[in-house]
Amino acid sequence: MTLPSASRAVVIIGAGPAGASLAYELLQGGLKPLILDKAVFPRIKVCAGGLTIKALKFLPPDLGAVLEDEIRRVQLSFNLGRAFTKAWHQPLLYTVERQRFDAFLMEGVRQAGGEFGEEERLEAITPGPGDLSTLVTSRRLITARVVVGADGARSRVAQCAGLQPVDFWHLGLQMEVPRNLMGKSASAFTRTVHLDLGSMADGYAWIFPRGEVLLIGVGGPVHQGPQLKRYHARLLSHLGLDEPRFPLAAHLVPHRVTPKPIMRGRVLLVGDAAGLVDFWTGEGIFSALHSAHLAARQILKFFQGEAGALAHYQTRVDHEITPELTASYQIAKIFNYLGPLAYKCLERYDYPWEVFCRVMRGDRSFGEIKKRCRPDILFRKLLVKSARNRPIA
Ligand SMILES: Cc1cc2nc3c(=O)[nH]c(=O)nc-3n(C[C@H](O)[C@H](O)[C@H](O)COP(=O)(O)OP(=O)(O)OC[C@H]3O[C@@H](n4cnc5c(N)ncnc54)[C@H](O)[C@@H]3O)c2cc1C
Repeated sequence: MTLPSASRAVVIIGAGPAGASLAYELLQGGLKPLILDKAVFPRIKVCAGGLTIKALKFLPPDLGAVLEDEIRRVQLSFNLGRAFTKAWHQPLLYTVERQRFDAFLMEGVRQAGGEFGEEERLEAITPGPGDLSTLVTSRRLITARVVVGADGARSRVAQCAGLQPVDFWHLGLQMEVPRNLMGKSASAFTRTVHLDLGSMADGYAWIFPRGEVLLIGVGGPVHQGPQLKRYHARLLSHLGLDEPRFPLAAHLVPHRVTPKPIMRGRVLLVGDAAGLVDFWTGEGIFSALHSAHLAARQILKFFQGEAGALAHYQTRVDHEITPELTASYQIAKIFNYLGPLAYKCLERYDYPWEVFCRVMRGDRSFGEIKKRCRPDILFRKLLVKSARNRPIA
């Protein structure tokens, strides 16, 4: 049987936040990409849906309709023991339901004139003819001048291009539980994210409020799957939810903390396909949007006649995104090494908390902190700040 064939300048595989925002920026720049997704939208994506303030700058201003809870507080516990809460005077993040959020972004692409092929899976990519690539999908053959893999963790585009950008694989396990099951303690989740650290090496747990539900999850190294499952069960029992009646969803989380190749020729990777999830916070949407923005800029320049522009995509990512992910990884390692001491510091002093909030809002960066993280300077700052005993609203 012969498959129907088509030809496009740019084909984007995957319509998550990375693919959708890239398609939107290309449309704004006058290019008309074809975007394909194996799923039918709206589709489910396992995610806690935490959208930091720094991510908002890459998103349309009319996003309000899909934002759910505004978060200004974090409650921290160590190994599910005693907890403390820190507050910030401005929002740190919003929660979104990924099904609605992703569909909202794709609706924007459709309205801007984007061409969207749903339920169309990429199966293979072969080089040629000439400078083009030929894509084999579940429906047709497509030739393209530029191909972008925005197809998430375990990217098929990365496999076809022989790219292996991921340094560490983590696994996320998450359950959606109605908030009213928590009875009187449900109010503790208002505007508050709960995090548990120190229960397992490189692992942590979270509880994110989103409308009428709580997202209760754990994440950690993929080879510790059974331990993660036990940790999740312990977390539920800690919350008084001993007989969970809701499905536990699992999804891989890719971390790239070294500058491994994320492009080959005219095939580029963005978002999770490039492994751009923060090791410490598990935040991936911000880098998905940021990398899509960098890819859009270089692709537009390429089609305006700047022949070397595509190759600069990797350089831009390794200049603007990789140092941040590497710094966050190193800070996470120091934090895990110090264990209860780091936790005590967070409880006792406001300075590390203030810095963390500023990073979440995009006013500071992990890279900056790492540079300034000389123990003598840090110690002096902690002393000055605690002497001032500045209250945080
Ligand atoms: C449990 C968990 C909790 C998380 N919580 C947060 C959080 O609170 N905040 C945050 O910022 N990040 C979080 N993340 C990370 C975040 O979900 C990802 O970083 C983000 O979704 C990446 O977006 P993306 O567009 O790169 O990929 P995705 O959102 O994964 O989209 C990829 C798309 O590609 C499509 N696709 C895949 N293969 C093919 C194919 N062969 N052909 C066609 N289409 C294909 C898929 O259907 C999908 O629609 C979490 C992750 C997990 C697992």
